[in-house]
Amino acid sequence: MADSTPARRIPATLIAGDGIGPEIMEATLRVLEALEAPFDWDPQIAGLGGVKAAGDPLPQATLDSIRRTRLALKGPLETPSGGGYRSSNVRLREAFHLYANMRPAKTLIPGGRFDNIDLLVFRENVEGLYMGYEHYIPIDDDPHAVAMSTGVNTRQGARHILDYAFSTAIALGRKKMTVVHKANIMKALTGIFLETAYQIHQEKYADRIALDDVIVDACCMKLVINPWQFDCLVTTNLFGDILSDLCAGLVGGLGMAPGANIGQDAAIFEAVHGSAPDIAGKGIANPVALMLAAGMMLDHVGLKDKGERLRRAIERSLNADGVRTGDLGGKADTKTFAAAVVARLGDS
Ligand code: NAD
Repeated sequence: MADSTPARRIPATLIAGDGIGPEIMEATLRVLEALEAPFDWDPQIAGLGGVKAAGDPLPQATLDSIRRTRLALKGPLETPSGGGYRSSNVRLREAFHLYANMRPAKTLIPGGRFDNIDLLVFRENVEGLYMGYEHYIPIDDDPHAVAMSTGVNTRQGARHILDYAFSTAIALGRKKMTVVHKANIMKALTGIFLETAYQIHQEKYADRIALDDVIVDACCMKLVINPWQFDCLVTTNLFGDILSDLCAGLVGGLGMAPGANIGQDAAIFEAVHGSAPDIAGKGIANPVALMLAAGMMLDHVGLKDKGERLRRAIERSLNADGVRTGDLGGKADTKTFAAAVVARLGDS
């Protein structure tokens, strides 16, 4: 007898985003639809799109939607540099206590400058220098004579991200965690993170995963000389932002790097990259990062088989079929790449 139980549907907020956002989101939705991913999308706006349509970079309706669904797939959101409105990404992380940002950097295309990379970057997502406690002090006729910024890291905040990083890394079978810090100079601000890492590790995780640490500047050098010496990195907000772009560069660039923002009130999945205004509207953006983020979202809701199918189809489109966008040295446009992935979804 046929099973008449309706398949489980999963409400989720959808923010296409700015710049290349709508193009890569359309490609990703096409693939998710072909995968029969059971998301009931609630489309919302934020960023520059929010400012243009509703006069607000983070409209209340968008916040209400995520509060209801607790789950979102988000395209990149534009933030003006040096002035203007505060980042909607940062506000979303604060609003939903998305304290953990996980950014895998894994080689999908063999034979590049660095081969067989498989790194996991865990970034503290709501504290540090990102809190935006900044001001200028005017002197004489210069209103910007002095700029000041205060970073805040708390023991509790460090424990949240470190617990998430250790437990997730262990569940994924990883062997080593490296804390990245600058505790030689910012002895309090990043020292508290380093100190807490060793405390938590000793209390709970020492028998299951190794721990070491490295100063952030040395870490950058080591990552480009011999990235294979690392397994998982965990670090404070600003260092995590910078290091995850560096790690994206090791695996072919920003078009290949997904991210998950995880917290107690919601989970938001996105590409690491921004709105790429230089190529927006041309239909040539690489949708792989957002597709991989959608794969992480499928894993997160317990649909790992679909996540695996999606990752396999992306890998085969890139390698067996050689369909690649311009940033990867290919000629395919965004839509052509999406069609190639759809055609590969049936592979076993
Ligand atoms: P960016 O990541 O948008 O672009 C950097 C470079 O990488 C550009 O040359 C761009 O063309 C290229 N690139 C990025 N994604 C690509 C893709 N999918 N396919 C092909 N090439 C790609 O960084 P930016 O230019 O510094 O920032 C632009 C805007 O994005 C800014 O307003 C910034 O605040 C915002 N931003 C948003 C997020 C987010 O929403 N999570 C993250 C980073 C930056």
